[in-house]
Amino acid sequence: MEPNEPEKAKVKTFDKCPLCSLKEWIIKHFGLDETIPEGKGFFADIVKRMKENGLAKEGWDFCYDQRTGPVANEQMLKTLPTGAQVPSYFFKTDICSDCGCIYVTKLEEGTAQKKPQIVLPTNIPANRAERRRMERNN
Ligand SMILES: [Zn+2]
Repeated sequence: MEPNEPEKAKVKTFDKCPLCSLKEWIIKHFGLDETIPEGKGFFADIVKRMKENGLAKEGWDFCYDQRTGPVANEQMLKTLPTGAQVPSYFFKTDICSDCGCIYVTKLEEGTAQKKPQIVLPTNIPANRAERRRMERNN
């Protein structure tokens, strides 16, 4: 399956930790005398500093984890014909450097298309050099 045709993708991005955002809201709403957490992503902050020091290119990204795939089980995928499309997902996560919460930074919904399966032969006859090696070992 080939995930995420860009024109059909629905993308959401989150640039701040949801727990720290809630803490910020509570502190401001109740006028508490506490420090507002920054809620920055640990990896996003590292990449930002690398870019500032010329160690990473613009547009370069790093995250804690990222996953992608079709929204279907293996049994369903086996029965689909080549070219069939199913919904797909993609997400990236980061770790809050203030509270340690692991949160989603990018969430994407798209479609995946089943590509033709390439089946490689399993019993490839040995070439002459391999046959001689096998004969010497026997
Ligand atoms: Zn946080």
